[in-house]
Amino acid sequence: MSKAVATVDLSNTTAAYHAAATVAPAGKLLHISGQPGSTKDGNVPNDYESQIHLALLNLRKIIIAAGASVKDIVKLNVFIVDYDSTSPKHRRHIQKFLAGHRPAMTLVPVPKLAVASWLFEVDAVVAVPEAPAPVVLPAAQETADVIIIGAGLAGLSAAHDVIKAGLTCIVLEARDRVGGKTWSQPSANGGVIDLGAAWINDVSQSKMYALAKRYGAELIEQNTEGNVVLQDFDGKCTPFAYGDLPSFDSLTRKHLAEIRDMVEADCQAVDTWRPKDTSLDSLTFEAYLRSRGASEIALATGAVWTRAMLGKDPKDLSALYFLNYCKSGGGLLAMRSDRKGGGQHLRVRQGTQMFSIGLASSLPEGVVRLNSPVQAVVQDGTHSVKVQAGAVYAARKVITTVPGPVWADSLSYGYYTKAMMEFRTPFWVERGFCGLAQSFVGPASVIRDTCSPADSKYVLTCFMSGDAGAAWGALPDRERELKLIEQLGTLFGADNLESQFVELTTYEWVKDEFAGWGCPCTSLPPGVLDTLGGDGLRESCGNLHFAGTETAGEWKGYMEGAVRSGERAAAEVVKGLNAGVVSRLCGHRDKQAAPNGAQNSEADCWPTADQDSAARLTPSLLLPICRHWASLAVGFPSQRSPDKRRSNPPALDSLGGSRVPSSAPPGQPPPHCRARRQMQSPALPLDCVMASAEGRDRIAFESLESFWSLGFEVEQELAMRGSRSGPPPL
Ligand SMILES: Cc1cc2nc3c(=O)[nH]c(=O)nc-3n(C[C@H](O)[C@H](O)[C@H](O)COP(=O)(O)OP(=O)(O)OC[C@H]3O[C@@H](n4cnc5c(N)ncnc54)[C@H](O)[C@@H]3O)c2cc1C
Repeated sequence: MSKAVATVDLSNTTAAYHAAATVAPAGKLLHISGQPGSTKDGNVPNDYESQIHLALLNLRKIIIAAGASVKDIVKLNVFIVDYDSTSPKHRRHIQKFLAGHRPAMTLVPVPKLAVASWLFEVDAVVAVPEAPAPVVLPAAQETADVIIIGAGLAGLSAAHDVIKAGLTCIVLEARDRVGGKTWSQPSANGGVIDLGAAWINDVSQSKMYALAKRYGAELIEQNTEGNVVLQDFDGKCTPFAYGDLPSFDSLTRKHLAEIRDMVEADCQAVDTWRPKDTSLDSLTFEAYLRSRGASEIALATGAVWTRAMLGKDPKDLSALYFLNYCKSGGGLLAMRSDRKGGGQHLRVRQGTQMFSIGLASSLPEGVVRLNSPVQAVVQDGTHSVKVQAGAVYAARKVITTVPGPVWADSLSYGYYTKAMMEFRTPFWVERGFCGLAQSFVGPASVIRDTCSPADSKYVLTCFMSGDAGAAWGALPDRERELKLIEQLGTLFGADNLESQFVELTTYEWVKDEFAGWGCPCTSLPPGVLDTLGGDGLRESCGNLHFAGTETAGEWKGYMEGAVRSGERAAAEVVKGLNAGVVSRLCGHRDKQAAPNGAQNSEADCWPTADQDSAARLTPSLLLPICRHWASLAVGFPSQRSPDKRRSNPPALDSLGGSRVPSSAPPGQPPPHCRARRQMQSPALPLDCVMASAEGRDRIAFESLESFWSLGFEVEQELAMRGSRSGPPPL
């Protein structure tokens, strides 16, 4: 697709994040009024950076409602009260919002705005693109009850349960391997390196522990014997016993303990499944900490948490989102702990990909299709969903486990890379350290021991995250090694570490399309949870269901969350498909008699009331999704190797190749789908859908929009169409 908005630059403007001017083809122009940083109910937080996040979200909602995207912005004007040119805090957030797009932009410092509490306002001109033609997929070559997109832990767990329920299932996986973000590489020097997930526990991660037992995982307990070390702002390192607070003066220690305990208490107060607190969601995590009196050192500690857990800085996260994230894993303390019940208690000697390989191997042959990147998903008003992944497949239900940034603008990853530094000896243990280190300066923000003594493998895993990690990631390979050797030497007081160093193994998930360009979990800026509601990410849309670790209630962002989300989505589709049978037995058939004397064997694909209403929603609403997915078809390379030219583990022979036999000739739907086809309702335009929207339609509609864009509001769509009058108050 050609770029609608072209930049005009002068020789000295090309490096700026905005252009000197832009040109857009003649067509529809959308002029957006000034958007302040208010929540959807009009609340305005005191904090300037939180207001920037909210204003940009409000702008995004309108752009989406008009059928455009951020890339269609021609001109941005930002109005900043008491602008401090020495500290342009807006720049970071606008750059992230624009994601590489460079509109023309004007910054207007102002003494005050229309409302005294407003500190930031943004308006825009947007070139609205022509609506693309609907995606029409050819007849399906294969059908199944359920198609699952993605063979990570979520997809494979879902497939396991779907098949257990007696339904047929196809898993379409883009890569040439199963496992997604579980990826274990045999090391040249023996042992295995986990490029993705590494830790589980045997207390609160019951699903993972059950898989570990089922597949015979050899578990290695995390080393917590010995000292931890903290590297301060000035680079100075101080050791302290594991479980204690760092060795600051007593007042600082007291303050840090109070802030930590307050965050713990606040996260425990948040609802795990449906977090709701407008005032917390209107603030960044940093603003929340400041508002509770956190000192600079407490803020830096908070940054270590958010970077180590999400690769993000506290100024980029909604406070409510982060607190809920902690709650999902039992709380801040549990998630940060390396001890029993903690997020980092046990590692797997064989590597965590064994869980995915085990699950995949337990599925019937031909269920998992490797090298099958999905390019389009279409609900076209019939009661089946078509999925294109080279071939076209049709199913009664689809579960997608594709990571969030692919389908939702507001979901994003931070920078997060694990750098595994292997040494000839565990020199840190010999010096009385357990291997855990935290740094306020980097380049690594957290370091952990990941030795496998049985393999004589001595590794420190360095978590390269946030801004410091991203700066390290931009260095050439050798400099990366040298920087880490230097930092580790400083942290553990070891000279001449180079002589001990064996090799660095790393993989940048941030460059991996099929990972959604990052890891370990996506997060949200202020305002989005409040807009969508706590269930927004996992609500099904018609026959499309959502799984994947970020949709989990418990252990979001972890393998445990992935498995639980897959099982939850599988339960939804099994219930939905079984409900078809039940409603027929209950007399639903009288309302919509199966044509041509359909027999019982066809009954389970008769639409239930729910399925019917969902189908009515689909044609016009799914187009944006189809477009988006279709655009993904372009430039999806095959899976990359981790740095050091390591190759993928060989594709599992038993998982590749063969196709699930179809019960119908090619191009024909199997018998059980015919009745549904004949009963399809005509496509309704969006306005009709809205006019007839009842409770469930509306929920489906909203969740559909959250799928596409996160942050769209039905009210806004109606306002755009003139169904509601009156601009928002200035
Ligand atoms: C560096 C790192 C460290 C981590 N550390 C831990 C840890 O210690 N403990 C822990 O519990 N968790 C950890 N995690 C997180 C954990 O790995 C994930 O939460 C979990 O594996 C996610 O599983 P998933 O199935 O939801 O998603 P994924 O594993 O991302 O699976 C999604 C699948 O969808 C596929 N896919 C994407 N697009 C398409 C498409 N268009 N068509 C078809 N298929 C597609 C992908 O290839 C992938 O296989 C870590 C992750 C990383 C990367």
